[in-house]
Amino acid sequence: MSRRTVLKAGATLLLSVVAPLRAYAAQILAVRVWPADDYTRVTLENDTDLKATHFIVKDPERMVVDIEGLELNPTLKSLVAKIQSNDPYIKQVRVGQNRPNVVRLVFDLKEEVTPQVFTLPPAGNYKHRLIFDLYPVKAVDPIAAMIEKGDWTDPAPVPEPPTAPKLEPREEPKLADALPKVDKQGKMVRMITIALDPGHGGEDPGASGKNGSREKDIVLAIAKRLKGKLEDLPNMRVMLTRDGDYFVPLGTRVEKARKVQADLFVSIHADAFVQPTARGSSVFVLSEKGASSSAARWLADKENLADTIGGVNVKNHDKQLASVLFDLSTTAQINDSMKLGRSVLGEIGGINRLHKGSVEQAGFAVLKAPDIPSILIETAFISNPEEEAKLLDEAYQNKLADAIVTGIRRYFAKNPPLAKNRLT
Ligand SMILES: [Zn+2]
Repeated sequence: MSRRTVLKAGATLLLSVVAPLRAYAAQILAVRVWPADDYTRVTLENDTDLKATHFIVKDPERMVVDIEGLELNPTLKSLVAKIQSNDPYIKQVRVGQNRPNVVRLVFDLKEEVTPQVFTLPPAGNYKHRLIFDLYPVKAVDPIAAMIEKGDWTDPAPVPEPPTAPKLEPREEPKLADALPKVDKQGKMVRMITIALDPGHGGEDPGASGKNGSREKDIVLAIAKRLKGKLEDLPNMRVMLTRDGDYFVPLGTRVEKARKVQADLFVSIHADAFVQPTARGSSVFVLSEKGASSSAARWLADKENLADTIGGVNVKNHDKQLASVLFDLSTTAQINDSMKLGRSVLGEIGGINRLHKGSVEQAGFAVLKAPDIPSILIETAFISNPEEEAKLLDEAYQNKLADAIVTGIRRYFAKNPPLAKNRLT
């Protein structure tokens, strides 16, 4: 036996003497459940990286998860009461100490799911997270979901006039001859579809105000108001990238807008700045060559952190990004986005102080739909107590929504939507 081996054996012996009888048990710090039609997420936040294995059992459908290095504690037990009866995918959860050092969770399911189980390193205010995302086997189609909710208006089917030239699918006329075709009876209708994107959601609260209000709640309220007002206009329909408090990855927001062939993408935010005195509204579009100011770059970097804080499954995410085909035809997109941005900024300037008098540019990931004019509106600074109060005020939310509607209408008056040959 070499000297080195002897030393090593001695060290091991010493270690086993001083080590506690049981291995260190990880502590669950918090459990959170985010039910949504898209998917239900269950988060276990822990002081260390947890190891979990899972499998699906049939008849009845359930998912069994074994977590190593864990002892049952009251926080973990509180998960049972956190599953709501209206959760789309989880009927109930059972929690138990399966064997020493292994906790077993059994999710009784309402239907077959495709689970994604992954861990996230500490980010934002969070420590380690173990995530269970339960997706329906057949992904939710945004149009089908809206039709089911009675939230999607189709124009009346129009018989093709016999002499009408047949448009090739996906071949779109130039902007100059883009006027919507309306026949004498006013029957031929070109529906305008707007994707409204309330920022953040779920695990990602966004910025928060001094008085405790959260960006994710305020922007959802504003987006819902805006949706109502836009849909009061003829031939306009709205798709919300999220209609509840759950996390939607940035790439998925863009993908949803493309799935419904949105004519515009409008992302709504209410951010914070280090100085509470910062105030005013601003409008941003994508930039091809760097940000228009360091503040714009700072903000884009901060917004792009949403995926890190909200928590994306990296394995899945790469596939998603590839499918969006970023960087195609962005110049045309940015030109149109600028026009939309100016029009909206002009209207918002009538109801709130502007942070900067011109549309700013930076590399916001959520504005990267290559074929949809896209803007991001910072409605006001939630970190400014005066503006936080305004953002919570219904009358102000209405004024803001009205201003955005007018801005969008002005944009379409000057830039009629392309007469897309679409089926929906
Ligand atoms: Zn934001």
